[in-house]
Amino acid sequence: MSHSSHKIGTKFIHAGTVPDPSTGAIMTPIYQTSTYVQEAPGVNQGYEYARSQNPTRKALEDALATIENGKHGLAFGSGVAATDAVIKLLSPGDEVIAANDMYGGTYRLFTKVFAKFGIKFTYVDTTNPQNVQNAITPQTKLIWIETPTNPLMNITDIAAVASISKAAGTILCVDNTFASPYLQNPLDLGADIVMHSATKYLGGHSDVIQGALILNDDQLREQLYFIQKSCGAVPGPMDCFLVLRGIKTLHVRMKQHCENGIAVAQFLRNHPKVDKVYWCGFTDHPNHTIAASQMRGFGGMMSFTLKDDSMEAANKVLTNTHLFALAESLGGVESLINHPASMTHASIPREERIKNGLSDGLIRLSVGIEDADDLIADLDAALNK
Ligand SMILES: *Cc1c(COP(=O)(O)O)cnc(C)c1O
Repeated sequence: MSHSSHKIGTKFIHAGTVPDPSTGAIMTPIYQTSTYVQEAPGVNQGYEYARSQNPTRKALEDALATIENGKHGLAFGSGVAATDAVIKLLSPGDEVIAANDMYGGTYRLFTKVFAKFGIKFTYVDTTNPQNVQNAITPQTKLIWIETPTNPLMNITDIAAVASISKAAGTILCVDNTFASPYLQNPLDLGADIVMHSATKYLGGHSDVIQGALILNDDQLREQLYFIQKSCGAVPGPMDCFLVLRGIKTLHVRMKQHCENGIAVAQFLRNHPKVDKVYWCGFTDHPNHTIAASQMRGFGGMMSFTLKDDSMEAANKVLTNTHLFALAESLGGVESLINHPASMTHASIPREERIKNGLSDGLIRLSVGIEDADDLIADLDAALNK
């Protein structure tokens, strides 16, 4: 049963899983094996070697496809491994148009690893789709966007960029990590590939590193599967099991992330020590209209600056929260606080960061699913220190 016709909660719970054919186990077992015994050379049940196929991974990949309304899912050992696989579709001389405000590790992979293989990356402000249009050349093969962006919560109009990409005959890949499939489904808006760091909301419990690609095109799926097995960045079966389990509660967690997100964003906006709050749910956020039209809610990610935009003032907040743990990553049930300039985005040169509006004093929050009143009290105490 595909479950694609069901409502979101039913879909998330049943996606990809069927009772195990050998025992009836309701949860897909962790097939911790490297190989599969063959009856005769080449006579097998579709499983030969675990880099190429694993039943736990297969269940997860089917689930990933279902929850993003796609036909095919592919799981990778990390989010950056999934990104790496997409860039390996390209050849020297090909060009990529990428957002100028995205996850630091994506920027590092593009500039420090792939640029030296002769792939050219052009970074534009994708919040204005015209900038994407203007950057297209006959060599452009791929457009890479992230929305909402990390950490400034900028929004790109996926449908508008998808139609530019279609007209130009390029592939559009959307990093949907921040929104999660609960809030946004880029394939429905015309994207060709959706990428996730499953480490974040899909896993949801800060206990696994994993990445995912979801797509519709059969030929593109064959190419990416070939890269997955040839380059070998596959996740282990235990990690696949954890993400499969995480997906079952994604809708329940996301509802609470959204509710807490609204409460914390409003609290910050009204706090006398806070200057700007970056959260796409505010009606005066520059891209709010697009956010409201392509997302089902605004999630629990936000950033803010203090009126005193010094490192010292930011440090005081960063080191004085008790519920918000000072850590990289996001999307888990527990709240995290982060300093992009020195942590998640330290791989971006300061000059580039500042140019893109990511100031030294910016603080990022991943609002978890604890009780909102406790989270607000924790932030209030740290801000008033
Ligand atoms: C974390 C993250 C990645 C990288 O994923 P890993 O699982 O850490 O390799 C990519 N994009 C975004 C938006 C992320 O937050």
